[in-house]
Amino acid sequence: MADHDYGYTTWGKDWVRFAESLRQTRPDPQLPSARRMARDGKVQITFDDRTVRAVVQRGRGTSVVTIEVAPMSAEATAEISRRLSGIQPLLTDDLYRAVADAGHPPAPVLDSVDCSCPAGTPRCVHELAVYYDMARRIDDDPRIALDVQGFFHASAGGGQAPAEATAQRWIALNSLDPAAYFTAAE
Ligand SMILES: [Zn+2]
Repeated sequence: MADHDYGYTTWGKDWVRFAESLRQTRPDPQLPSARRMARDGKVQITFDDRTVRAVVQRGRGTSVVTIEVAPMSAEATAEISRRLSGIQPLLTDDLYRAVADAGHPPAPVLDSVDCSCPAGTPRCVHELAVYYDMARRIDDDPRIALDVQGFFHASAGGGQAPAEATAQRWIALNSLDPAAYFTAAE
């Protein structure tokens, strides 16, 4: 069933979808446990550029989940940058939809997901708990959704964006202070 504690922003919802794929015909029976673990603070996340590392506690056991997030496409980066060039840029649901409607959905793509636990299932409960915790964090601060895709790195000029994509747009973008990306949607 829907759990509105996670993914109440479109930015956060992307991470809920990793746990609750629309392609699944039945909910994963591990989901309630995963949600509870995220809610109870059993997931400790650290970020290193586009790598998410999480120490997940379950019972007496501890597992380490490592997720590599693909860089945001140059097109999506440029589209968001263009729309954020106002005086007080806001990472709202409306902005997300506008960027998606322009043909460059900013949803994250995971390059790899790994857990140290011995579970033989395609997805373990630790990984699911991390998706929920990421959704919770991003709901609180949508900048994380961009940061973990290398948005600020790319926009600072050190990124993978092809030069021809947005040479002119980078100029405007570089004048933006990431600290000015407000988080409140209302
Ligand atoms: Zn695991």
